Amino acid sequence: MQLSLTNPRANTVGEYDRKLRLSRTIMHDPIDTFLAQSPVMILDGALATELERRGADLSDALWSAKCLIERPELIREVHLDYFRAGADVATSATYQATFEGFARRGIDRQSAARVMCNAVALAIAARDEFWAAEPRRSGRLRPLVAASVGPYGAMLADGSEYRGHYVLDDFALTEFHRPRLRILASSGSDLLACETIPSLREARVLARLLPEFPTLCAWISFSCKDGEHTCEGDDIGECAAELDRHPQVAAIGMNCTPPQFITSLLRRMRARTDKPLVAYPNSGERYDASSKHWSGEPGPWRLGGHARLWYEQGARLIGGCCRTGPDDIRSLKECARSDISSP
Ligand SMILES: [Zn+2]
Repeated sequence: MQLSLTNPRANTVGEYDRKLRLSRTIMHDPIDTFLAQSPVMILDGALATELERRGADLSDALWSAKCLIERPELIREVHLDYFRAGADVATSATYQATFEGFARRGIDRQSAARVMCNAVALAIAARDEFWAAEPRRSGRLRPLVAASVGPYGAMLADGSEYRGHYVLDDFALTEFHRPRLRILASSGSDLLACETIPSLREARVLARLLPEFPTLCAWISFSCKDGEHTCEGDDIGECAAELDRHPQVAAIGMNCTPPQFITSLLRRMRARTDKPLVAYPNSGERYDASSKHWSGEPGPWRLGGHARLWYEQGARLIGGCCRTGPDDIRSLKECARSDISSP
């Protein structure tokens, strides 16, 4: 029988296991390498929030991806600012960059692929510019570039990434993610950041695609609705237990989730996995998908004030999501220096 490597319906368990074994032998895990030398990895903060603060108009279904086409130099500046604030990772502006989203704007697949690669190239250029200055290297490791992979719901641009319950089946979801993973896998990024994933089902689809790109590893991070569940309602401990089995999933956690839920979520994940946990909450404000704006007040907090507690619960990659900025990342860096000591 001829096995198809691209049609998940034709894949057998044996075929999946074979690809899994292959990935174990040739995969490089930059998170593991980094954490062997540093107790914690500081992620960046929101990209869109910073772009808007600098005058970019993102009230659009393409969101920050719109800026990739119109003002790419602004994105590079934001990446640089986060490195200056202390980020060890830049997450590329590809969260909402999808073939389907660009097609709605009359952008063909070839051009869309180029825009996605350019987004990663902007983050790499910012990292290289930052790292070229000798004094900046003092006391820190060379930062990484993570290619952001948003959920299917982010392409819909209707807030589905905070609800889940997609109507499409696993096959269609796999077909949605595969071509973009293929582009980002060859983009020169150090790893993938699969983020704001609202359900275990979508995380499972992503994890099962990874062995098709055996040199690659990823963190998978859920959007959560409370201290126990993903936005779709999966038990977060179950999510950790299932993803724990995938060698290319280098870290598991939650993002774009209100900060008050993080400690509980981490505790539940920690009980089911030894993988490094990733936590980058939003500011606690609420997203209104119809107006594409955030409302409410941010909590009276700075990321750095929570980092020690989250670290104790197993978080090793800590940063900020929507409505956080370079000041939050600076406070995290301070905390990492003063409160989280070297092992
Ligand atoms: Zn967010």
